[in-house]
Amino acid sequence: MTQDLATLAREKGIRYFMISYTDLFGAQRAKLVPAAAIADMQKDGAGFAGFATFLDLTPAHPDLFGLPDPSAVIQLPWKKEVAWVPADCVMEDKHVGQAPRVVLKNVMANAAKEGLYVKTGVEAEFFLIDADGTAISDAMDCAAKPCYDQQALMRRYDVIAEICDYMLELGWGPYQNDHEDANGQFEMNWNFDDCLITADRHSFFKFMVRSVAEKHGLRATFMPKPFMGLTGSGCHAHISVWDETGKVNMFYDNKDEMGLSRQGYHFLGGIMKHAESLSAITNPTVNSYKRINAPRTISGATWAPNSVTWTGNNRTHMVRVPGKGRFELRLPDGAANPYLMQAVIVAAGLDGIHSKADPGKRYDIDMYQMGHTVTDAPKLPLNLLDALRNFDADESLKAALGNDFSAAYLKLKRQEWNSYASHLTQWERDHTLDI
Ligand code: GLU
Ligand code: MG
Ligand code: MG
Repeated sequence: MTQDLATLAREKGIRYFMISYTDLFGAQRAKLVPAAAIADMQKDGAGFAGFATFLDLTPAHPDLFGLPDPSAVIQLPWKKEVAWVPADCVMEDKHVGQAPRVVLKNVMANAAKEGLYVKTGVEAEFFLIDADGTAISDAMDCAAKPCYDQQALMRRYDVIAEICDYMLELGWGPYQNDHEDANGQFEMNWNFDDCLITADRHSFFKFMVRSVAEKHGLRATFMPKPFMGLTGSGCHAHISVWDETGKVNMFYDNKDEMGLSRQGYHFLGGIMKHAESLSAITNPTVNSYKRINAPRTISGATWAPNSVTWTGNNRTHMVRVPGKGRFELRLPDGAANPYLMQAVIVAAGLDGIHSKADPGKRYDIDMYQMGHTVTDAPKLPLNLLDALRNFDADESLKAALGNDFSAAYLKLKRQEWNSYASHLTQWERDHTLDI
């Protein structure tokens, strides 16, 4: 039965609902609706001017409505009188095909028709930085190998524990928090789940981390590579596919040496096959490619992939199989749109299953040292433009995500690239002025 939001408001003391949708650039857009008005909004949605957000709509388009999904409502643990509720975009009673949550639901519906339910966990790394955004916020956090730095972690205890307590309260099953491999960088992990639940939680997590950081006078960023000499922020996805009961992991095969079933290998094969184009979505910004193609950082490794390779429990590849019945895609970064990254994983994996894709040779080598010896694996794109071109050429992936989405995404992202390309940098002056 659909949850009635007005009743929920009375039961839980909610005064306002934040009806929120995520646009194509990952920005969360919301309206704050008083509980007294929620009954109508639950039926009709909250109105937005679509052109004012990144969805490739014009000022002449009719109202865009954010239709709240009551099954996904989250009461803000730090402000209980407000509840966040993710919305699906509709216009003139039709779903807006390019809206990220709609894209994900459509792709999931196609997978469900075949009895396939994708579950994922995400590892959304972030930096805590100064409010002006120029430096990490803790001057004492300067070790050359800062990963798991106990002292630096505890200097941020108030922020990390507050967020983790909220995740406990929300029942997400958080299980560990650490200082990551860059100064000022942290990671907090919670349990994997159905990929739509993970996408909603991932969106809310970003909102929550930013909100708690701000409360403590800090700023949180998920920018993929905010500091050139430091490891960037990834958003690894741990992927498995389950049956309709949600109890049987169809990727699991105890007899296989990696613990992966044939279906698991085909799904992985689909990710490998589309990697050069799906990176336009998992690595969606100009800055994303500074993480993928970075030289070694001060800590000695970037931990980010730069080639389309897979392996066992080895973090130097694009895909790692850390244990039986799942694999880790290390490609996505902190800028990845929570809904679109899940959608493209499901779409590429599904195509892999349909086409019985072969993931190719497994390389059990240190890619940072020996990557040059691998001559038969493609390199990941060097920049956003290459990724967009690859995506544009990948007709089956575009169709699987929906043509409305693919056209809108390519148009807006090309505009972003053009804006970047027409920007004159100091590097060019330094290297060209006197030539
Ligand atoms: N920060 C690394 C990245 O950019 C990942 C580190 C890790 O393995 O957790 O992907
Ligand atoms: Mg990590
Ligand atoms: Mg990881």
